[in-house]
Amino acid sequence: MRLSKAFQPTLKEVPAEAQIASHRLMLRAGLVKQTSSGIYAWLPAGLKVLRNIQRIVEEEQDAIGAQEVLMPTLQSAELWKRSGRYDAYGPEMLRIQDRQGRDLLYGPTNEEMITDLFGSSVKSYKELPKMLYQIQWKFRDEVRPRFGVMRGREFLMKDGYSFDLSYEDAVLSYHRIMLSYLRIFQRLGVRAVPMVADTGPIGGELSHEFLVLAPTGESAVFFDSALEGQDWLGRQVDLEDKESLAEFFSSVTEHYAATDEKHDASEWAQVPDERKREGRGIEVGHIFYFGTKYTESMGIEVSGADGSKFAPHMGSYGIGVSRLVGAIIEASHDDDGIIWPDSVAPYWAAILNLRPGDDACDKICDQIYGTDPERFMYDDRSERAGVKFNDADLMGHPWQIIVGPRGAKEGKVELKRRATGERYEVSVEEALAKIG
Ligand code: ATP
Ligand code: MG
Ligand code: MG
Ligand code: MG
Repeated sequence: MRLSKAFQPTLKEVPAEAQIASHRLMLRAGLVKQTSSGIYAWLPAGLKVLRNIQRIVEEEQDAIGAQEVLMPTLQSAELWKRSGRYDAYGPEMLRIQDRQGRDLLYGPTNEEMITDLFGSSVKSYKELPKMLYQIQWKFRDEVRPRFGVMRGREFLMKDGYSFDLSYEDAVLSYHRIMLSYLRIFQRLGVRAVPMVADTGPIGGELSHEFLVLAPTGESAVFFDSALEGQDWLGRQVDLEDKESLAEFFSSVTEHYAATDEKHDASEWAQVPDERKREGRGIEVGHIFYFGTKYTESMGIEVSGADGSKFAPHMGSYGIGVSRLVGAIIEASHDDDGIIWPDSVAPYWAAILNLRPGDDACDKICDQIYGTDPERFMYDDRSERAGVKFNDADLMGHPWQIIVGPRGAKEGKVELKRRATGERYEVSVEEALAKIG
């Protein structure tokens, strides 16, 4: 993309309404624009980041055998009356009526709809297990939308659901999801620590929240440093083997990690002092096994091997896809702007033409840009060099290729790695090879 043609409305001023770095940077870098309270339009560069996150989520979910579906945002109130949640959900649910006076709602989550979808077609134990997920917009009428996309009212969530024969099988689904989530967050370039979460009154339930560490997070977190810096992508786990899954799962959950809601002072006291980590975190994911709560309340049954009917065991698994854009920035920025992890960056590199109109500069920039216009944000504007440097730092491209008249004459460019500030004086070929 050529910056002179891009719809990338960067702001010079720091927006007054934005209280935290990620919100300020998302507005200043032109990633999103608020259209009403807690509701945002995604501009081209922001949308690219959102799509990059989505792609990684899809790849890792597919890798554990989950299948993607897409359910509508609008749901019939009838469904929610069947589970008993229509009245219970409260004012966070946006309720709508159509012209016939039928009650609809904008889905805040999809347990009812997926359970109904599943129940209407799966009739036999032979079709289990099933794991389905979608990436779809949700609406929750939050009392205090804030921090930009971090707590929006309309937000993009990956929500997944598993259906299993028994508690034992559901636990295997839960273990696979734990692995999948740890891999997703690692690939996104953030470390999200899984922490025990509230499960409610029914026994045998399991729940974890995934928190990205950041001083502006809403939850206080306490965890064992053994959970830091683990390489989940390098972990060999046999997804079909119960023991292998259980071993992986206990290697994660044997270490203490809890938010303020579940913090237990006596267990915390057992963690060696040098491994105690305290801070704040942002909830970017939440997984939950809840048994037959919805299948039973909604009357969904499957026939077992002996012909008897049973209610499948379910779990639901969420990731805040749009919240992650904010959380990633919160965890990866400096005073000058965003530092995108390579995997989610909207553009791989910026090409900074310090003298548009200079033959040598134009030629080199065109040559690099021509190798793959999708990968580069080419700053071809007739702006001062300082403006270009500042904008490139603000937008956070992993690499900057700086092309000035002196170097260009000798076929040289300057390469800058955004994350470290390292600079290299190299030929065009070397630059392309180095950024990979
Ligand atoms: P929170 O505690 O932040 O209100 P939640 O526990 O209500 O979140 P869940 O029902 O667990 O949210 O939804 C799954 C995921 O969706 C959350 O882990 C979070 O990443 C994301 N999410 C929830 N609410 C919002 C929101 N208002 N804006 C953006 N993302 C959200
Ligand atoms: Mg909430
Ligand atoms: Mg929560
Ligand atoms: Mg939650």
